[in-house]
Amino acid sequence: MDCLFCNIIEGKIPSQKVYENEFVYAFRDINPMAPVHVLIVPKTHLACADEINADNSACVAKIFEAIPVIAKAEGLTNGYRVINNCGEDGCQTIKHLHFHLLGGRKLPETMA
Ligand code: 5GP
Ligand code: ZN
Repeated sequence: MDCLFCNIIEGKIPSQKVYENEFVYAFRDINPMAPVHVLIVPKTHLACADEINADNSACVAKIFEAIPVIAKAEGLTNGYRVINNCGEDGCQTIKHLHFHLLGGRKLPETMA
């Protein structure tokens, strides 16, 4: 399987790492949409949110445990947004589950 984010997690493709633990890898988006734009991914490959189930959902909890830690390290003291795009209608481009952490300015109210 040739997955871009698996290759980034394994260090085969370079990234600007901002956080890592046993379960989670976080790195700067190559095309930032806000002053802070971090991608947070589980180290185990899941294609998208639609694949989350009772057997594998612990990785999502690990991601959401990491988010406040990353947000604090990035200086996001006034709030932030977490986004997951899933599938065609969600405009997901990379088929490895990931959450966008966006902040550093007032974000648009509308998302759709
Ligand atoms: P999606 O549209 O799938 O939710 O988001 C994929 C994100 O991955 C996009 O925001 C895009 O800029 C980012 N991205 C795509 N390729 C790379 C890459 O090679 N390195 C990094 N750091 N981000 C990438
Ligand atoms: Zn992957």
